[in-house]
This record gives sequence, C-alpha cells and structure tokens, in this order.
Amino acid sequence: MSDGSPHGPLYRDTPLILSVSGVDKAFDGFKAVRDLNFYLEEGELRTVIGPNGAGKSTFMDILTGRTRPDRGTVTLHERDGHDIDLRKLREFRINRLGIARKFQTPSVYVTHTVYNNLLLSLNRPRSVWSALFYRESPEDRERIHAVLATIGLSGREAELAGALSHGQKQWLEIGMLLVQEPRILLVDEPAAGMSDEETVKTGELLLSLEGKHSVIVIEHDMEFIRQIARKVTVLHQGSVLKEGSFDFVKNQPDVIEVYLGRQGAREREEAAS
Ligand code: ADP
Ligand code: MG
Repeated sequence: MSDGSPHGPLYRDTPLILSVSGVDKAFDGFKAVRDLNFYLEEGELRTVIGPNGAGKSTFMDILTGRTRPDRGTVTLHERDGHDIDLRKLREFRINRLGIARKFQTPSVYVTHTVYNNLLLSLNRPRSVWSALFYRESPEDRERIHAVLATIGLSGREAELAGALSHGQKQWLEIGMLLVQEPRILLVDEPAAGMSDEETVKTGELLLSLEGKHSVIVIEHDMEFIRQIARKVTVLHQGSVLKEGSFDFVKNQPDVIEVYLGRQGAREREEAAS
C-alpha cells in the first residue's frame, strides 16, 4: 500500500518490527551511541557495519536490554499493532519477547549430539536434566528437522556437537536460536574465524532466513557484506552515517573515508614499525 511518493511512503508495504529513535548512550561521559535512529521491517535482513568503536556492540546491548539507553526510545512492534517499550525490560524478558542474540563465540553443548543441542534449546522443560528425559512431540521433531535443513546439518544430528568444525558449531548455535522461533535474530560477526567456504555457506544460511525472521547482522568483512547485503546501515561514532544498498553506501565519500581512512592509517603504522 505504498503511496508511490519519492519522499517516502505514507503507508508501508511491510510493517515495522523495531523502532529505535534518538538513542544516546554514554560511558563515563563518552558517547558510544549518539542520536541513533534505526527502523527494521518485519522479515528484513539488515547488515550493520562500521569501524571498530562505531558503537555496534553497544547498539546490540541496548536492543537486548544488556545496556540501558540514556535517552531516546526502543520499541518492539507486535503483530497485533501493540507496541512494547524495551527500555525498562530486563534482558531475559526481552529475550522471551523473541529477541535472540548470537554471540561471536559458539556455546554449544559439546558433549551432546547435534539433535539434543536443538532439543535442549526448545525451552520446554526448565532444566538440562529434565530436558534430557523430555519426550519431544512430533511437532518438536518436525521443527528440529526443519532447522537442521536450514543450518545445513541434516544427516549429522546424531554426531556430537564437539566434533563439528568451527563453522558448523556456529550454524548449530544459530539453529539453537531458530528453534525458539525468534522474532528478531541478532548476529554478531558470524563469519569471524571461518574458512572462505564456510563464510559463503553462512551467507546462504542468513539469506535463507529472509522473510521468515527479522535479522540484524553485524559485520565488517566487506566481501561477506557484499554477499548478503540488502539494506546496509553504516555506523560511525555512534550514529548512522549512511543507509542504503551495498552499492550505494560503498560509493559514499564519507563511508570510504571512514573505512579507507582507517586502513590507510593502519598501513602507515605498519610501514613505520
Ligand atoms: P563496536 O562494537 O562498533 O566496535 P562498541 O559498541 O564496542 O563499538 O564501542 C563503542 C565505544 O564505546 C568504544 O569507544 C568503546 O571503547 C566504548 N565502550 C563500549 N562499552 C563500554 C563500557 N562498558 N565502558 C566504557 N566504554 C565502553
Ligand atoms: Mg563490537
């Protein structure tokens, strides 16, 4: 129902799932995030890039309730039109609302099978002990097998998670979040430490989630961003510097300056040492 206006639609084709508006966050007087505005559509795959110190991790911390903003609003839009103010909710409450975060280091249960890792993540019984004796329903099994296919581990479910490669462990951990059917999946540098082949597969995995989950990927590997980029948000000094397609942002002089300026500085440092 777009109004076709070049200045932005009055009606959106896709509803928003998340709105972040005018957010500031300072640590000891240093503003890690400043006047941040960020809007995510339902089912969108968004990449957030920016040099070290741009505020990417702080932004994720604010979304997950790990850090509280000093100013501004953070709102989750429910499908029924109801809005939830995330600013005052505890981390576990935000997680239960369906905002799931994948950290950089994989934390799978290495002594359990791939299948049981997914089963344990279904969040049915409360403890690991009772989960081990939990008899999953046919629906649970179906969901686990669907996730195994999504993460490229079909046929590997009986293997111990500890025997998987680094990349496969990362995919399993994404799967452990997917079985919980999150509304928003936050993924921090998923390709870090992966082989080229695993990186490509990770990109395919993330692309396959588009439309089914809303996903925010933080990344600074440019090749990887090129592969998965839809709308790209470039953060710099805690604010949005540019937002748009990969081709648009990569050609913006201020984005080039922020990236290449730093690379140039690094090269100069290396040459001097
Ligand atoms: P990025 O993830 O983009 O590299 P961060 O969000 O980690 O950036 O950090 C942004 C800035 O805020 C950095 O200068 C960092 O040193 C500072 N910062 C982040 N967290 C804290 C904290 N808990 N205490 C003090 N300074 C912090
Ligand atoms: Mg970071």
